[in-house]
Amino acid sequence: MADSNQSKDIKYDPSCMDDYDPSSMDAQIAQQHILHNINAITETETVPIRNALHRVLAEEIHSTINVPSHTNSAMDGYAIHSKDIPSTDTKTLKLIGTAWAGRPFDGTVNQGECVRIMTGAVMPDSTDTVVMQEHVEVNDDNVTIDTKQKAHQNVRQAGEDIAQGDCVFKPGKYFHPSDIGLIASLGIAEVNVYRKPKVAFFSTGDELVSIGTELKQGQIYDSNRYTLWSMLTRLGVDINDLGVIRDTPEAVESAFKQASENTDIVITSGGVSVGDADFVKETLEKLGEVNFWKVAMKPGRPLAFGKINDAYFFGLPGNPVSVMVTFYIFVQAAIEKMMGCTPKPRIQIQAISNTDLRKRPGRVEYQRGVFHINEQGQYEVSKTGMQGSGILRSMSDANCFIYLPIESSGISKGDLVEIWPFDSFV
Ligand code: AMP
Ligand code: MG
Repeated sequence: MADSNQSKDIKYDPSCMDDYDPSSMDAQIAQQHILHNINAITETETVPIRNALHRVLAEEIHSTINVPSHTNSAMDGYAIHSKDIPSTDTKTLKLIGTAWAGRPFDGTVNQGECVRIMTGAVMPDSTDTVVMQEHVEVNDDNVTIDTKQKAHQNVRQAGEDIAQGDCVFKPGKYFHPSDIGLIASLGIAEVNVYRKPKVAFFSTGDELVSIGTELKQGQIYDSNRYTLWSMLTRLGVDINDLGVIRDTPEAVESAFKQASENTDIVITSGGVSVGDADFVKETLEKLGEVNFWKVAMKPGRPLAFGKINDAYFFGLPGNPVSVMVTFYIFVQAAIEKMMGCTPKPRIQIQAISNTDLRKRPGRVEYQRGVFHINEQGQYEVSKTGMQGSGILRSMSDANCFIYLPIESSGISKGDLVEIWPFDSFV
């Protein structure tokens, strides 16, 4: 592990954590260091495809069939021979039967004849073109077509989606809903995926109570465990929620021991600064290996990363927005690597800022914003009110981060700014 850039002797006042600090670590370097240290899980298991959603493939999947399996019609209409398309005037064909989806027409279709055909029905032998029903004139068994038809139109060729023998997915593929449908379309019932990472987490703080309890003076509800639970659930990991741990060295030590048993990752929130009630760092030093960084970012400056037994450890700050930002910036990519997939590329867009954004150089900032596309088709963004690291509403109202690079000294209304839209649902 690289040396910590936070000397043990340095004391600083957590109340001025938003201030520029020349000894802070660059966020990108911290991120690279973390990713470099994480090993991917190698154990695999075979699961029914419904259970493969949000899992990572550990094998190659080849198709044993053509998809679609037969050349079929893309429209409701009439299957014809392309040679029957007239070059002038019109041509009348004789209707000799119907092809339904799932009930093919078995007879022979000669030139000068046609078959009524439904979307998805197999193209009758030797026909190669479908004329939409809206483009013909029908009189009893006589179907008249004109010159505007194109040979091979409205036909889906066998194997045009996937050809037999094609490699459809490679190891490392993270499964989205469309992928599960695609595997089903190949007739495959089970796939081999990497084991899910096991993640244990807990909150630290004497002021925290769990929901369902009445608040006494000075207490607050623990929200971090719920945002962590939600962010982890979306990633598809196995979760072990160890609750709220009191601010005593003994309680933190015993929680660490319990959390690190049979676990891949331990995440804590709070208690990672150097206040008198912050025991995360010293406990980690006692039980495992620790890197403690003041990262040059806002929100989320203090961050501990290390190992305890075989588990990786992330000590996130306590403030609710800092927890989310440090999770998205540092933890998510680490979990994705551990799951066996390549961390997703981030979508970055230039948007016009509708407000002035105050910032000092020397740290990156992840302000929370709402973007939309204006009538001229340009992206515009506004920040979501107050940006304090304890104001969770600033995240909840947002649909993007506004990324302000380390050297930026603020943004004036009308300037271009980089935004990172939050994940869509696909
Ligand atoms: P700490 O990092 O422990 O000094 O906490 C920083 C701030 O975040 C304090 O105001 C805490 O009360 C608050 N905080 C810590 N943990 C939580 C939590 N689990 N849920 C909500 N707020 C928290
Ligand atoms: Mg605390």
